[in-house]
Amino acid sequence: MTRIPIVGGEIDVSQLGNTLMHEHVFVRTPELQEAWPGFMGWDEEAAIAGAREKLKGLKAAGIDTIVDMTVPGLGRQVQRVARAAEGTGLQIIVVTGYYTYTDLPFPMKYNGPGKLFNNDPDDAFLVDLFVRDVEEGIEGTDIRAGVVKCCTDLPGVTEDIERLIRAVAKTQLRTDVPIMTHTHAKSKRGLDQQRILREEGVDLSRVLIGHSNETADLDYLMEVLDAGSYLGFDRCGLKIDQPLADQQETLAELCRRGYAGQIVLSHDRHCTSDWFPEEGVRAALPEWSYGFIQGSLIPGLLENGVTEDQIDQMMHRNPQAFFAARRDAPAPADSATATAGS
Ligand SMILES: [Zn+2]
Repeated sequence: MTRIPIVGGEIDVSQLGNTLMHEHVFVRTPELQEAWPGFMGWDEEAAIAGAREKLKGLKAAGIDTIVDMTVPGLGRQVQRVARAAEGTGLQIIVVTGYYTYTDLPFPMKYNGPGKLFNNDPDDAFLVDLFVRDVEEGIEGTDIRAGVVKCCTDLPGVTEDIERLIRAVAKTQLRTDVPIMTHTHAKSKRGLDQQRILREEGVDLSRVLIGHSNETADLDYLMEVLDAGSYLGFDRCGLKIDQPLADQQETLAELCRRGYAGQIVLSHDRHCTSDWFPEEGVRAALPEWSYGFIQGSLIPGLLENGVTEDQIDQMMHRNPQAFFAARRDAPAPADSATATAGS
């Protein structure tokens, strides 16, 4: 039995069902909301009610679980997520880590021994923050994180990003929660993440390299897969760098080459955000909606030679295997005492 924390409790890994591995319920900018209440039209009650309807829609469409990849830096607030989830029947896994792809916030700076700010070259304080979310709960609640996240985008492995990846690695090693990442696929950032995580001693099969649909570079994608990690085709319907038809073809080709057992799907969509007006998103990116995977992507894949069984793997069995490794991995000799919730 592998237990996974969700908002409102805990489930066995066998209860995950169809899972979207990288979504966001809310993306919000707390500092701006505090400074200018209602910034970008944010209305707390309307945001929650609107999110609840969208989450209900996902459940009605056959999705059982989503991973809400919103961490600090993206306005994580798990009690708001818990309210949105009420009555939807959808299971939501929340995560820890920090969202930046350049610098950590000022109070988290490392500026050397004996200096004013963080003096600890090992960033133990950062690891302790993440571990607290995993072991005790987030924001004083008993809602625990089921994943730890880091980001590497076009700026590459900056000094702070390297600190963050190493802290995420140490969190994984201490708690055994899996790692899921944000990457810039075109610049092959997944390989940088794997290198640093490997140096820290992380088993790369416990790592999911995210946002990997935004490249057609099969050599890069296979290099990430062959190193043992999962691949997130988790921005489905979102076209930034790569036409959607090419994304679908790349995914079908990876399935043909035998990699369907290491790929998961998602949209990276949000229910409500203060980053962009919803009307603007719909106008600019009409395909980027919660209906895209089931309504467009999967039918297209099936026409393109991907089998129903491979779809089931990507939507259902792979998320299960990814989380289940938490307890299936070699454990200490006294592992018979391992119990739920540890
Ligand atoms: Zn995301």
